Amino acid sequence: MRRKLIAGNWKMNGLKADGIALASELAGHMAGAGPVGFDMLLCPPATLLTAVGQAVSDSPIALGGQDCHAKDSGAHTGDVAAPMLADLGCRYVIVGHSERRQDHGESDATVRAKAEAARRAGLTAIVCVGETEAQRDAGQAESVVEAQLRGSIPAGSTPDTLVVAYEPVWAIGTGKTATAADVAAMHAMIRRTLGGLVESADAVRILYGGSVKPANAVELMAVADVDGALVGGASLKAADFWAIAESCR
Ligand code: PEP
Repeated sequence: MRRKLIAGNWKMNGLKADGIALASELAGHMAGAGPVGFDMLLCPPATLLTAVGQAVSDSPIALGGQDCHAKDSGAHTGDVAAPMLADLGCRYVIVGHSERRQDHGESDATVRAKAEAARRAGLTAIVCVGETEAQRDAGQAESVVEAQLRGSIPAGSTPDTLVVAYEPVWAIGTGKTATAADVAAMHAMIRRTLGGLVESADAVRILYGGSVKPANAVELMAVADVDGALVGGASLKAADFWAIAESCR
């Protein structure tokens, strides 16, 4: 039985007071909710990891980074290494988000090296994959995602070291979401592909991301092989993020 994971990707948003307020409100919801059927994860900007970590320190809410470097240390100005994230209390790190693949030219090999760095540091890598609109229109969605999986997932990954996030690029921040049928087909393909790539593929969590909102969360979270959500915009509002999480209760 895979426990759902509701992960908030705050991207490059928020100053200290905003981050503390948002994390504290979510910690309050968790404290008042009693036992819940999901795990919650916050991935704030690196500048807010310490403050957000403190705000959730008495809560089951986990902390994660949005990216890490493939090396453990060295002359890489401006980058953050996986052991540094672990040192701040992170348990997860997102790697290969489409914004990193686009803005920073990250290849599948780069993403895999980052996921390997995450594992060395004891972190779970959330490896993001997803097709562009042009690729979907050309009927290539599944082949593109399969190739990304094969290129981005480190050999020897396990359900403890790997989460996959399927995020169609055209659905991120656009208000467009994939249909439940398209999500089901893609997640089934991802599960099949994982079977040949990792140990205990049935236990690896596969998240859906792309304009997940309270209004569509119940339908999306009920799709077979959808084991949670990676949420961008709606994770910046405590009420919306909590409502998405509650759709998994
Ligand atoms: C994301 O950035 O991972 C994401 C899914 O964003 P949004 O929810 O805003 O589409």
